[in-house]
Order: sequence, then C-alpha cells, then structure tokens
Amino acid sequence: MKRLFNSASVGPDRCIFCKIVRGDLPSNKVYEDAHYLAFLDINPFSKGHTLVCPKEHGETIWDMKEDEIGGLFLAASKVSKAVVEATGAEGFRFVQNNGEAANQAVAHVHVHVIPVMMEHKGKTMNRLKLDEAEMQATASAIRTAMAP
Ligand SMILES: [Zn+2]
Repeated sequence: MKRLFNSASVGPDRCIFCKIVRGDLPSNKVYEDAHYLAFLDINPFSKGHTLVCPKEHGETIWDMKEDEIGGLFLAASKVSKAVVEATGAEGFRFVQNNGEAANQAVAHVHVHVIPVMMEHKGKTMNRLKLDEAEMQATASAIRTAMAP
C-alpha cells in the first residue's frame, strides 16, 4: 500500500490525538463511545468545528479496520446534529484529509465536522482563534445537544 505520510508520522506514544484519547492532553470533548472520540478543533474554521477520530491509532482511513470506517462516519453524523443545533448553523461540512499533500496535519485519522452559515457560501474559510472560555461554552452546548 502506498504510504501517504513521512514527516508527520509518529507512533501512538507521541501522537497528539492518542494523547487526547488517553487523557494525557486536555481537550474540549463533545462525544465519546467505546471506539470513537469527538472534540473541538483548537484552531476552528468556525465556532463548533469538531474532530471525530477512532480511538485506535492509524494514520489514514486506509489504516482503519474496514468494519470501523462506517462507525466513524456514523459518529460524525451524530456529532453533526448536535453541532448544528448548538451553533445555529445552516449547514455543515465533513472533511476527511489523508496524507500531507491533503493538508492532514495530525497523522491520526479524523473527520472534520465544520458548521457553516449562509455567509460562508462560496467563500474560503480561515482558521479562528477562540478564547478558552468560548471553546468551553461551545463544547458544553454541543454536549447538551448530544444528550438523548
Ligand atoms: Zn494516534
């Protein structure tokens, strides 16, 4: 299988998403089950921009067990409903980058859930820096919306 990474490759011991899964690094978690974890992107394209990843380390979607790929997108779909409800978004994007050439910055499979408003239509979105209080409030609102 063709390898898509080089400089961003690290093992599970040094991978920042594995550290978040293990609780060794803090994150604003919004959803967790036995196999998947969702947390806010620290440099979001919009308020509520969330990352959904498998707990098991793998660099790209090709590294995932085939029967877990559907579960990743099911988790992302559940998260997207809560993200849209919590942010008042008018749409959302799934973005799933594989490899450095695709701008995948962290070599651990993840799906971006990016809420968008009509004002974003047809425009390039830039990374935002939200303060920690706003990030925590956003995560809290998404967790509330996730609750059954
Ligand atoms: Zn990892």
